[in-house]
Amino acid sequence: MDEVVEVGIVGGGPTGLLLACELALAGVRVRVFERRTEPVRESRALTMHPRSLEVLALRGLEERFLSQGRPLPTGHFGMLDTRLDFSGLDTTYRFTLFLPQAVTEALLEERARELGVDLRRGHAVEELLQDVESVELSGTTEGRPFRCHARYVVGADGARSIVRQLAGIAFPGTDTTRTSMLGDVTLGSPPASPFLALTNARGGVVIVPLGPGIHRIIVTDSEREGTPLKEPVTLDELRASITRIAGSDLGMREPRWLSRFGNETRLAERYRAGRVLLAGDAAHMHFPAGGQGLNVGLQDAMNLGWKLAAVLKEGAPDALLDSYHRERHGVGHALLRNTEAQAALMGFTPETLALRELMNGLLKHPAVNRQLAEHLGGLDVRYPALDVLGSTNEASLLPEWTGRRLPDLELQRFVGGTQRLYSALHGGRWLRLQVTLSTRMFPDTVAGMEPSWRPRAEFLYARPAQEGELLQGVGWMLIRPDGHVARAWA
Ligand SMILES: Cc1cc2nc3c(=O)[nH]c(=O)nc-3n(C[C@H](O)[C@H](O)[C@H](O)COP(=O)(O)OP(=O)(O)OC[C@H]3O[C@@H](n4cnc5c(N)ncnc54)[C@H](O)[C@@H]3O)c2cc1C
Repeated sequence: MDEVVEVGIVGGGPTGLLLACELALAGVRVRVFERRTEPVRESRALTMHPRSLEVLALRGLEERFLSQGRPLPTGHFGMLDTRLDFSGLDTTYRFTLFLPQAVTEALLEERARELGVDLRRGHAVEELLQDVESVELSGTTEGRPFRCHARYVVGADGARSIVRQLAGIAFPGTDTTRTSMLGDVTLGSPPASPFLALTNARGGVVIVPLGPGIHRIIVTDSEREGTPLKEPVTLDELRASITRIAGSDLGMREPRWLSRFGNETRLAERYRAGRVLLAGDAAHMHFPAGGQGLNVGLQDAMNLGWKLAAVLKEGAPDALLDSYHRERHGVGHALLRNTEAQAALMGFTPETLALRELMNGLLKHPAVNRQLAEHLGGLDVRYPALDVLGSTNEASLLPEWTGRRLPDLELQRFVGGTQRLYSALHGGRWLRLQVTLSTRMFPDTVAGMEPSWRPRAEFLYARPAQEGELLQGVGWMLIRPDGHVARAWA
C-alpha cells in the first residue's frame, strides 16, 4: 500500500535536515528521503555565519554547534587581504564559526532523530507527480521500488535537484568557466601562521587547519583554471600548482579528499510550483566564495518550515507559501551577485590585482567593511510585509519595523527576572511581545488573518534589560517564528 505523509523532503543534507526538524517540532508528519546510505564524511563547507547561529539559537540548539566549532572574529570577501570584521556586528554571535559540514550534518541529524523525524537513507527519488491535492514520490531503495504520497514536497536535493527538474522549474544562469582545486592532505611543513591566504599573478592559495594532522588546501592556478570540472584532481597536480604559486609544496602527502569545483551560477526561476517547493542548493548554485551556500540553505529552511506547518496544522491560507518565494528568492539573487563579484576579485591579471588593491583599501573603512560583513553574515535580510496578515490602517502601526530581524535581546520581564528573547521562540511559535506597561489591549493582530487561521502564539511582557535605542518607541510586537518582526505598534 502507498504510504502517506504530510511533507516529503527529498535530500537529507543540511537544508533538508533543518527543515525536517522545524516541521517535526510543529507536529507535522514528515519523511526525509536521502539517497546516501551513510552520513557524509567529506566536508565541503567549513563555516557557519552569524545568522545561521541565530537561527539555531531561535530553537535553543546553538550550544551543540558552538561546543564543536571554533569562533573566528573575521571572514573574507573574495580572498582579499583586508578581512571582514564580525566583532562589532549587532548579534550575540560576532564571529564566524569554523565547523566542518560533516559535523553540522551529524548534529542536525541527531536533533532530527530526537524529534522523531522519519529519515530514510538509501532512498533515491526518481519520479514526482503532483495533482491539486497531493504529490506522489517514487524511487528505488536496495533495488526495490518505493512510493509515497505527501501533501507537499520539498526539494532539498542539492544543485542537480531532480525535484526541480520534475516540477518543471527552470534553473537559468551561467555555465562553469573556471575551476579551482581542493585537497584535504597532511602537510610535512605546514605554514607558520595557522590560516594562510595568498594571491599573486600565478594564482591563489588558501590553507586552513582541519584537524590533527590535516589541512584543507584550496588552489586556483591561473594556468589550470580552464581544466574541466569532471577531470579528477591528482596529488601531483595540486603539488605542482601550489609550488608554482607559493614556492613550496609544504611536504604535501596522504590525500584524504581531492576535488574540483567551479563557478556555475544559477537560480531557480520559482521557489514554488504548486505543492512542490525548493530550498538550499536545489534553488541556488554559485561559486563557493565567502562560505555562504550552506548558511543560506539553513535560512531558507527556517523561513519555509513554520509556513508549511502553519498551512498544515493551523489553517493558514495556502498563499502563505507564496511568501516563501517572495522572501527568499531575492536573498538567493543577492547571494549569486555577491559570489560573482567575489569570483571577479579572485583573478590574477594585472587589472584584477589592481582592483584587489583598491578593494583592500576600501574595506579598511569601517562602514564598508561592516556592510559586507553584515551581508555575508546574513544579518541584513529584511522581508516585505506578509500580505496574508491582511491590511490594517491602525494609526499606531510602526512600518519601519516590518520584516526586520531581531537580535537575541536580553529582556527584563514585568513580573520580574530576565529572559533572552530567543528563548521565547524555542517552540517555533509566534510571539506577542508587549514592551510597555499599558492597560491597552494587545493590538488585534489577527484582524486581517483568515478566520480559520489560529496561529500558535506565546505571550511575553518584557522590555529590553539594557536602556538603548533598540525597541525605543515600540509598545507591542508580533514576532514570527523565524525571529523577524511581522508587525510593531507604538
Ligand atoms: C568547495 C566548497 C566549499 C564550500 N564551503 C562552504 C562554506 O564554508 N560555507 C557554506 O555555507 N557553504 C559552503 N559550500 C556550499 C555548501 O556545501 C552547500 O551549499 C550545502 O551543502 C547545501 O546544502 P543542501 O542541503 O542544500 O544540499 P546538499 O548538501 O547538496 O544535500 C543534498 C542531499 O540530497 C541528496 N539527494 C540528491 N538527490 C537525491 C535524490 N534523487 N533522492 C534522494 N536524495 C537525494 C544528496 O545525497 C544530498 O545528501 C561549499 C561548497 C563547496 C563545493
